[in-house]
Amino acid sequence: MEKQAVHCIGCGVEIQTEDPDVLGYAPKSALEKEQVICQRCFRLKHYNEVQDVPLTDDDFLKILNRLGQVDALIVKIVDIFDFNGSWLPGLHRFVGKNPVLLIGNKEDLLPKSVKRAKMVNWMKQQAKELGLQPVDVLLVSAAKGHSIDEAMAAIDHYRNGKDVYVVGCTNAGKSTFINRVIKQATGEKDVITTSYFPGTTLDMIGIPLDDGTSLFDTPGIINHHQMAHFVGKNELKVITPKKEIKPMVYQLNEKQTLFFGGLSRLDYIKGGRRPFVCYVSNALKIHRTKLENADALYARQLGDLLQPPGKGRLAEFPELVRYEFSIKERKTDIVFSGLGWVTVNEPGAVVAAYVPKGVRVMLRRSLI
Ligand code: GDP
Repeated sequence: MEKQAVHCIGCGVEIQTEDPDVLGYAPKSALEKEQVICQRCFRLKHYNEVQDVPLTDDDFLKILNRLGQVDALIVKIVDIFDFNGSWLPGLHRFVGKNPVLLIGNKEDLLPKSVKRAKMVNWMKQQAKELGLQPVDVLLVSAAKGHSIDEAMAAIDHYRNGKDVYVVGCTNAGKSTFINRVIKQATGEKDVITTSYFPGTTLDMIGIPLDDGTSLFDTPGIINHHQMAHFVGKNELKVITPKKEIKPMVYQLNEKQTLFFGGLSRLDYIKGGRRPFVCYVSNALKIHRTKLENADALYARQLGDLLQPPGKGRLAEFPELVRYEFSIKERKTDIVFSGLGWVTVNEPGAVVAAYVPKGVRVMLRRSLI
């Protein structure tokens, strides 16, 4: 007999009991009840907490299309530590006339010495270059609760009485941000109330705002080019910085190589002795060697001296692919998507950056 699909009474998603990390999950025991509610709605209902669910690329397109059809404020969350990797490149083509408020999250990871106003300007410039014209740009730390009041005030200002859709790449901190907003709003009833009522739109959860409009949490969008998809859970902990990043400065001679664990590699080919400033998680070990020894070292030490990836994951870990760059501008970042970046202060350097096949590497104007 074919099983009949069961739907969540909260958001309408089809219930599945196999994968807790995928949309529509409910534990098997929930199926015995008359009215089934998915784990995501359950959490929101009972704990006032949203939970991120990843999307397939097809669903992503559907969501983007929907954003063009609504009349709302779009709040786009990016991870400032992985700005390009968490950017969602197509968004501006889909949002139509809807205003976009750009929020850079994880501000707490930036060195304290970096001026926040300068960072916001940098984000504005990058947004413009990437084709987006946000109504405003803010910098917050959802985890630490920095500037959440400002963000809430900005949302309330720019939404102009309309619904709000919060979008972001998985891991950008969208759930943490929304949960912060919900928590903060409990004490300040005039902005957003927490009287929960699940949305009826499939896979979007609506949190009612005071005036009958809603703040919609959209599922997180997976960017396949991020390092996060090539490492295991424990390894992800190593490469994800937990607190303010302390830049590591390496004075390199030509023909020297830096390994970032076994995940990435930077060869300094030409341009005279100069500093390379590395902004990566301080839990990730950087190993310096001679360029002529680098290949052999990698072949011999991957999974040991050079890790992550750990020994157990070598079979599924992709080979590193080499990209050569000639640095022509002052203050350029070589970005290893999801891992961090290396700043080169002066032009005239030739480098080669290596990343696992599928991960993006790029140059950009220096963030710091
Ligand atoms: P989502 O997938 O976009 O919903 O992201 P989550 O809210 O689940 O957060 C992803 C990861 O980023 C988690 O490990 C969070 O602890 C972390 N995170 C979220 N916000 C911040 C922040 O402001 N600062 C830092 N350092 N980490 C954060």
